[in-house]
Amino acid sequence: MSSKKHLITTAIAYGNAAPHIGHAFEFVTADIHSRYRKLIGEEVHFITGMDEHGQKIEQKAKEQGTPIQEFVDAYAKNFIDLDKELSIDYNFFVRTSDKKAHYKGAQTLWEKLDKAGALELKKYISLYCVGCEEFKKNSDLNEKEECPLHLVKPEIVVEENYFFKLSKYSDQIKKAIENDDLKIYPESRKNEIMALIERGLEDVSFSRPKSKVSWGIPVPGDDTQVMYVWCDALSNYITAIGYGHENFDKELWANTTHIIGKDILRFHAAIWPGMLIAAGLELPKRILVHGFITSGGQKMSKTIGNTIDPQELLKMFSEVTDYPGDALRFILVHEVPSFEDGDLTMGSIKTAYTAYLANGIGNLTSRIIKMAISNNVKRDISKISIDNTPLNNFDANGFVKFVAKSIRDVDEKISKEEAYKLIKTNEEQGKSMIFSYLDMLNGIADHLAVCMPQTSAKILECIRENKMPEKPLFARLS
Ligand SMILES: [Zn+2]
Repeated sequence: MSSKKHLITTAIAYGNAAPHIGHAFEFVTADIHSRYRKLIGEEVHFITGMDEHGQKIEQKAKEQGTPIQEFVDAYAKNFIDLDKELSIDYNFFVRTSDKKAHYKGAQTLWEKLDKAGALELKKYISLYCVGCEEFKKNSDLNEKEECPLHLVKPEIVVEENYFFKLSKYSDQIKKAIENDDLKIYPESRKNEIMALIERGLEDVSFSRPKSKVSWGIPVPGDDTQVMYVWCDALSNYITAIGYGHENFDKELWANTTHIIGKDILRFHAAIWPGMLIAAGLELPKRILVHGFITSGGQKMSKTIGNTIDPQELLKMFSEVTDYPGDALRFILVHEVPSFEDGDLTMGSIKTAYTAYLANGIGNLTSRIIKMAISNNVKRDISKISIDNTPLNNFDANGFVKFVAKSIRDVDEKISKEEAYKLIKTNEEQGKSMIFSYLDMLNGIADHLAVCMPQTSAKILECIRENKMPEKPLFARLS
């Protein structure tokens, strides 16, 4: 019997800025699910990547006098570098500017939608904020009729657009979400999208005139238009697994988990399912929706000066550990809830490092291995196995908290049992106690394989070879 295929995706990042801490959180979360699903025997295919078209990128590149492709290449490199430093073990990195891998699939999807009668050309008079790269309604604007985010008046745009008749598919989308055929985590986000669908889904603008935006995928059969973000970017999830080419993996697509932020829930739980239904494709199985990360209770911003840069954290950790990526992985997922907003400050990050890594797993590893070596207790390593319910429910934060608690529990147990005293009066019993600590350390290292892969491998190596780590796994921050 072949194992169960499972496609895991992050949202694709917009290619006009360096990765922020929210990206790092989403990539690590997705990687934890991917590693766990592989461990329990699923055939996982994990994709991440970049959304690289649109007016915002085109304008910014022009302002800087950089060729657009070069502009997006530079940002893609930032993301690929961060993925590497965080041990994000993806199978494929999608880039929507990749003509060879992506265009054909996006255009095939467009043609399918057109054939199904889901598209229509209409004259469109609207307000458009370039900063948001989004059409606005009057009710979206502030009292000065400006975009409340960018504090500029949106452009009045009169143009011909193709529209996707999303309203036509409302009932089918609603039913799929209601029945959990497309399951939304958490329940509160499911309720949010159900309410939105019940208020009525409007048809969506699906293309832009080439005269306004040239940096995009050409609309098949109409060279005056390029695709707007929906068919261009959302399609990445299927083009990355062969859609539009000969090798589209339907079985893999049929068991898909999307991991996204709450700001793009409507795109993924309304527009995207509508497109898939219209094109006769299956819906993803589930969407995991995480919140935003604030700092000190406020949105991170350069003006306030409270931004937390993942690269800076990695640099800070690299001064005290050989595993800076693992340190950041653990702290992010321990401190930020899986399905709600979270808060991080430099203070809370350092406190977590000290409590869970320096005083936690780092200290526990030295303590147990030292005892084992000095009393000549050895243990073989068995195949990594994990059985933990929070990850079965797609809760990475619950899982990492469970691991942190196990570390604390073992540490307390060792302090209480005083094996070093017992071994002087009853060697056999003392040794079997130390053996049981190695056993527990082995169990913790197995769990860490999912959230701190390099640290886990190092601990398992120390147990197997009965040796101390060459230096503390996580030295103290100065
Ligand atoms: Zn705006």
